[in-house]
Amino acid sequence: MECSDFRTAISARIDGEALPPAVPVGVLDAHLRECADCRAWEQAARRLRRLTGRLREP
Ligand SMILES: [Zn+2]
Repeated sequence: MECSDFRTAISARIDGEALPPAVPVGVLDAHLRECADCRAWEQAARRLRRLTGRLREP
């Protein structure tokens, strides 16, 4: 699994959507503990969502 797979799951979680079946929440959280890049990406994504109200266009 690559960081891009986890980031897809992170953005889904921030949007309140279901996680992709390939990325169980426990696996995602374990990756976030290990991967500083994805932690930074999640923070940026949350900040962006607060600013725009949504992370992705429908
Ligand atoms: Zn990562």
